[in-house]
Amino acid sequence: MAQLVIAGSLALDTVKTPFGQATEALGGAATYSSFAASFFAKPSIVGVVGIDFPRQSLQLLQQRGIDTEGVEISSNGKTFRWEGYYEYDMNEAKTVKTELGVFADFKPKLPESYKDAEYVFLANIDPQLQLQVLEQVKKPRLTLLDTMNYWIQNKKQQLLNVIKKVDILLLNDSEARQLFGTPSLVKAAGAALKLGPKYVIIKKGEHGALLFSDGSHFSAPSYPLEAIKDPTGCGDSFAGALIGYMASKNSDSEKDLRKGIIYGSVIASFNAEDFSLERMKRLSAEEIEKRYKEFERIREF
Ligand code: AMP
Repeated sequence: MAQLVIAGSLALDTVKTPFGQATEALGGAATYSSFAASFFAKPSIVGVVGIDFPRQSLQLLQQRGIDTEGVEISSNGKTFRWEGYYEYDMNEAKTVKTELGVFADFKPKLPESYKDAEYVFLANIDPQLQLQVLEQVKKPRLTLLDTMNYWIQNKKQQLLNVIKKVDILLLNDSEARQLFGTPSLVKAAGAALKLGPKYVIIKKGEHGALLFSDGSHFSAPSYPLEAIKDPTGCGDSFAGALIGYMASKNSDSEKDLRKGIIYGSVIASFNAEDFSLERMKRLSAEEIEKRYKEFERIREF
């Protein structure tokens, strides 16, 4: 199995949905995505937390086989906090508050053992930090980048700079329209491909995902989930499962990428069934395979 490094936020999330709420629950892009990746591979994470970050949360990741050597524990501030809510249309999170805390002046320094990683996921965080992480990995084989509206608004140029250096760009539909200034997802994907990535994946919340490359296109179906409780982290768990699957196959082929997108959709659909990482914590390999097969049936015609 190839080595996988994931960089991104580790957070305490306060989330309200029409079906309940969670206060200062474990969250963050690196947290969700590494947990999702751990069903397929053995990820190593890079990030920073304050001393207010519960020790059990780091232990939870370690118990999943996630290497946390690259997580700095800083006494210079508080853990990243995000507060948001969803209305009945659960496709879009509304941000109430983003507190960068210790991420505001984080200088990522990769442990030596991370620098040979072949698979890299630059999960949602400041694009300047994403670039600093990428520059420390010697010879990555497959790099995936995610972001969100906060960074498109605040650091667009830096974001465009890092997009140029990755193999796969991941965005949700509204972010793609916002970043490339067009209502057409096909045009947005075309503009993204022109910047350098070989693939662009556009997530459409509960309605599936689209994969674009030069001359080819794949559409992953959505899963008819009845019991959505909290979609927080679905994008991250989608991405984590996808890159974890690619690392487990030691592949960068489009064929495996398509399968990885389905595994991503499977894990994301489970993640939405409960708050924080609760559903993933009780998720089994059998459940994953069963839902993967359901996905295969859904797209048969
Ligand atoms: P998603 O997969 O898009 O639902 O991502 C949700 C996670 O993103 C939450 O757990 C938040 O802690 C985290 N998050 C929210 N805003 C930001 C931000 N500006 N940068 C990095 N992570 C964020």
